[in-house]
Amino acid sequence: MISKSSQLFNEAQKYIPGGVNSPVRAFKAVGGNPIFMEKAKGAYMYDVDGKKYIDLINSWGPMLLGHAFKPVEKRVQEVLTNSFSFGTPTSLEVEMAKIITELVPSVEKVRMVNSGTEATMSAIRLARGYTGRDKFIKFEGCYHGHGDSFLIAAGSGAITMGQPDSPGVTKGTAKDTLLAPFNNLEAVRTLVAANKNEIAAIILEPVVGNMGCVLPAEGFLEGLRKICDEEKIVLIFDEVMTGFRLALGGAQERYGVTPDMTTLGKIIGAGMPVGAYGGKQEIMDYVSPIGPVYQAGTLSGNPMAMAAGLTMLQHLKDTPAVYEQLEETSNLIVSGIQKDLNEMGLPYTMNHVGSMYSLFFTSEKVIDFDTAKTTNTELFGKYFRAMLDKGIYLSPSQYETVFISTALSTADINTILKASRKSLEEIS
Ligand code: PLP
Repeated sequence: MISKSSQLFNEAQKYIPGGVNSPVRAFKAVGGNPIFMEKAKGAYMYDVDGKKYIDLINSWGPMLLGHAFKPVEKRVQEVLTNSFSFGTPTSLEVEMAKIITELVPSVEKVRMVNSGTEATMSAIRLARGYTGRDKFIKFEGCYHGHGDSFLIAAGSGAITMGQPDSPGVTKGTAKDTLLAPFNNLEAVRTLVAANKNEIAAIILEPVVGNMGCVLPAEGFLEGLRKICDEEKIVLIFDEVMTGFRLALGGAQERYGVTPDMTTLGKIIGAGMPVGAYGGKQEIMDYVSPIGPVYQAGTLSGNPMAMAAGLTMLQHLKDTPAVYEQLEETSNLIVSGIQKDLNEMGLPYTMNHVGSMYSLFFTSEKVIDFDTAKTTNTELFGKYFRAMLDKGIYLSPSQYETVFISTALSTADINTILKASRKSLEEIS
């Protein structure tokens, strides 16, 4: 009998391009039909056919504390009885800005938007307006949302779908996006020298989640900081994934390197559509209505989104144990899989930091886009499907990190490890 998910997917394809509202959800890279979910609680998601899954994506990152975290649910319910949206300033926005600037000290002022994409687009525009320069450097395989100027050698869904460069992005736009390989300071120095006084910003994921999990080499972030200081280039850390995940103060706290601007999303909305960009006051005061750079939003600072995110951030601030637990859980999962790989003689590569990890089906050390692309995506697809059969929901793409939540119990960790071992046996 055809499953409800398959029925829905057949219907969805009549009305929605590819049946989905974001490409990777279609499972094209891993085969089979996507699973339609109905509800989620804690570490688990339940599909429309009643099957239960342990969730290792957590809505692509926001659900750091698992699904349906009670205090968030309660606060949103309270707030929505007042209004869904005023389109005016609210006290919630002030509280939100206050807590972000307190927990991420490099963010002296912050502007709320509705997605990570809006945050990065706005940050680049602001850096350009502030410096009076047009070009910026992005790293191959980093993903900063679907703004035109970022869809060049883009990771995440773009590379998963084989579309790292998208038609529709004009040559004029693309020429101002300069590309360097991640972890390659020499390439950055060469670009900077060849484009003297023309580069407004260097933007990067300080830990990349969008070519799978790729860590910064020792000295890489520091080196970028130095180049930016010397050349008066705005250093932007895109912490949409890593913010409030790798530490309370994000990757910049964990690695001890301070950017000029930061973009945020995902966790700061606790599952609501939210993004934010912020940084040095001098730069942020270049934004309208006090500065000349324009940026706006009908629903920016939406009360329900603010209530959800604020409750999340307040909980994280008051509960340092969250980060200890995330480290512990992730270490158990990653060391368990690594042990299996060793015992089974499989030469695959595990990259891991905090509650992010990737298992790459390659024996290469994965340090940048080129090495990430040596992974055997077909084998990943088989592993994904084997895990899914066993009730473990991974990201349907090799070019995405795993996101661990605090909701995983010891029993869940054991279930994940057992499923992974068995899946590896099945596909090897
Ligand atoms: N920046 C990074 C690092 C991301 O991972 C993403 C999305 O995954 C974005 C920006 C875009 O965010 P959104 O999908 O909310 O537009």
